[in-house]
Amino acid sequence: MKQLEQKILEAGIVLNENVLKVDSFLNHQVDPQLMLSIGQAFASLFEAEGIMKVLTLESSGIAPAVMAALQMNVPLLFARKRKSLTLGDDLYMEKVYSFTKQEECEITVSRKFLSAEDRVLIIDDFLANGDAAIGLARIVEQAGAQVAGIGIVIEKAFQPGRKKLNEHGYLVHALARIASLENGKVTFAAEI
Ligand code: 5GP
Repeated sequence: MKQLEQKILEAGIVLNENVLKVDSFLNHQVDPQLMLSIGQAFASLFEAEGIMKVLTLESSGIAPAVMAALQMNVPLLFARKRKSLTLGDDLYMEKVYSFTKQEECEITVSRKFLSAEDRVLIIDDFLANGDAAIGLARIVEQAGAQVAGIGIVIEKAFQPGRKKLNEHGYLVHALARIASLENGKVTFAAEI
C-alpha cells in the first residue's frame, strides 16, 4: 500500500534494527484518513472470506481494525491485555509474549462475543515474531470459531512471524512489508 509506505518513510522512526516507532500516526496519535484507507485495503483483500467479525488486541490494533470492521459492516472485538473486573470470569485467555514490553501478558476475550459460527479476521498493527497474532488465533479456536484471515498493517519481513503464521495455514496479508531497518533506514520488501 503506497500511501502507508510513504507515511512510514516520512514519519516512522527507526529505533534500532528491530523496532520501528510509528507513534505519530498509528501507535499514539492516529491519522484517521490513513486508517480509513487501511480499512478499505483490508476489506478488499479479505472480501471473499465471508468475514463475520474483526478481532484485534488493545490498544494499537483498534484504530485500523475498527476501520476494517466499518468497511465490512461487521463488529469489532478487541482482546484485553489484563483481566478486567468488569469482564468477569467467563473469558477466553491466552498467554502472549509481548515483543515491545519483553514480558508475558494475558490476553482475554469475553466468551459472550465469540461463537462457533463466527468467521473471524484478526488484525494487528505489527507482525514481528507472530506471538500476538497466534494468541488471538488460539482464542478464536478456543471458541470453536474459524480464523478466516490475518491482516497486518506493518510486517517486519526479516522477523519470523510470517513463517509461523504460514505454518499454521493461516491466510495472511500485510499492507506494508519491511525488509530491513538496518543503518537507521527503512527498506521495503515486495508485497505478497
Ligand atoms: P509479535 O507478537 O508478532 O512478536 O509482535 C507484534 C506486536 O508487538 C504488535 O502487537 C505490536 O504492538 C508490537 N510490535 C512488534 N514490533 C513492533 C515495532 O517494530 N514497533 C512497534 N511500535 N510495535 C511493535
